[in-house]
Amino acid sequence: MIEISNLKKSFKDICVLHDINLRVDDGEFCVLLGASGSGKSTILKILSSLESFDSGSIKFDNSEFKNQIPSSKDRQIIMQHYSLMPWLNAEDNIKFALKCSGIKDKNKLENISKKYLSLVGLGNISKKYPHSLSGGQCQRVAIARALALDPQVLFLDEPFSALDPVVRANLQNELKDLTKNKQVIFVTHDIDEAILLGDKIVVLHNGKIIKEIKNPKFTPNTPKYFELKSVIYKLINGEVDNIEYMI
Ligand code: ADP
Ligand code: MG
Repeated sequence: MIEISNLKKSFKDICVLHDINLRVDDGEFCVLLGASGSGKSTILKILSSLESFDSGSIKFDNSEFKNQIPSSKDRQIIMQHYSLMPWLNAEDNIKFALKCSGIKDKNKLENISKKYLSLVGLGNISKKYPHSLSGGQCQRVAIARALALDPQVLFLDEPFSALDPVVRANLQNELKDLTKNKQVIFVTHDIDEAILLGDKIVVLHNGKIIKEIKNPKFTPNTPKYFELKSVIYKLINGEVDNIEYMI
């Protein structure tokens, strides 16, 4: 379980996160949704040890942290631009991450990297370098690399925003399957993506959580779906600061 309480963060004297309170249960897929600049990436960076915070507390299961979270192999982040090592092929990108996490045995490295590349449908391109892979394939390698470390918690920061719609739709569906039983915090500014993926959608505006919507499951392109979408649209654009929306 992840529990964020009264989290505050400023850059110089500008407050970018105001009293964030958020809980993500085991196995829950939580989507952080908000316009550009609303504070989504800052929350993920704090949770994945890339940024400190000013006050409040963050708990992962029974460990509580203040100011800075130590890095751990149990928490992995996937960024928008997949951050693969360009000088390593797909398989070696995964092996490198595994080595950094302490795995030394050659057979183990081989087996784990093969297993996760196959899992994301890339068993046949394991020797290719990032520059010769498509954006969608690079993002799959990044997902395979993160999953290979078997983290309990996965953070994803707009991982599909650079991909074309068909590749994106395929990866969205695969990601849901691949992350069953993990805690996921997925950041997006895309309302459809949030509704499709989220067990819970947390709407951010100007560094504040203004709404949580649980189980937003509706068939796309139905009247109810459009109604929900328009409610969320108003929230992320700050046209209203809370709507009592019953689902
Ligand atoms: P989002 O991911 O929702 O687009 P961010 O978390 O990246 O938003 O940014 C939230 C706010 O914090 C923005 O106003 C941004 O300019 C500011 N910000 C983010 N990182 C820094 C930084 N390292 N230094 C100064 N301001 C920052
Ligand atoms: Mg961002």
